[in-house]
Amino acid sequence: MLLEIDDVSLLYGRIQALHGISLTVNEGEIVALIGANGAGKSTTMRAISGIRPVASGRIRFEGEDITKLRADLRVRRGLCQAPEGRGIFPGMTVLENLDMGAYTRRDRAGIAQDLNRVMELFPRLAERRKQQGGTLSGGEQQMLAVGRALMSRPKLLLLDEPSMGLAPMLIQQIFSIITEINEQGTTILLVEQNAQQALARAHRAYVLETGRIVKSGTGAELLHDPSVKEAYLGVA
Ligand code: ATP
Repeated sequence: MLLEIDDVSLLYGRIQALHGISLTVNEGEIVALIGANGAGKSTTMRAISGIRPVASGRIRFEGEDITKLRADLRVRRGLCQAPEGRGIFPGMTVLENLDMGAYTRRDRAGIAQDLNRVMELFPRLAERRKQQGGTLSGGEQQMLAVGRALMSRPKLLLLDEPSMGLAPMLIQQIFSIITEINEQGTTILLVEQNAQQALARAHRAYVLETGRIVKSGTGAELLHDPSVKEAYLGVA
């Protein structure tokens, strides 16, 4: 087991956003977290990456308790989040942004290899390597955020709404890339509004409702679950 979240609760001031969440991610998996707006998906990601402290419960990564570990030290251990809605450095070029993703690494050969891999995964970024991040289109910035996270060579990649704001064709493309990244050996935890695509791609998934996990199963099971279909896939 790569990641284990055990009974985690999280508060924003007096608002309780997570009520005792438990979930696991095994090595090699794509695990999806789906749920309506405000269900607590991004909050769960923030708890895992360490951006927000948890009120109670435990988070373990590779068997070690990281509940209280600083966010930057989690990145060094191989837990990396590509932020929701970009979060790239607007004043830096595409290449500089990608370099920043590798800031914790010293293995220059490995970094060069991963840069090539990112350029192959995202030919659009390769074409625009000298362009400033802030002048990229929304979809291109999204790709850059994923590419930058990959440059840290994570053991677990956290993706928060990678398809947000993308045109239908690009949504297909980003999900294909997610599958490809996974097949190349990276474990992925994915938060998505686009439940159809996420469930189709995920090995396993969890459904979050008002800060609680209400259902879990394989991607295929949930894709065919009547209540999931009705609530999240827009089919009665
Ligand atoms: P969406 O799909 O709309 O992004 P989500 O499932 O990711 O939603 P969260 O962003 O995790 O939901 O929010 C969970 C709950 O916590 C919501 O009710 C939200 O209003 C609240 N919340 C999130 N961030 C804060 C904050 N900084 N301060 C107070 N409340 C917050």
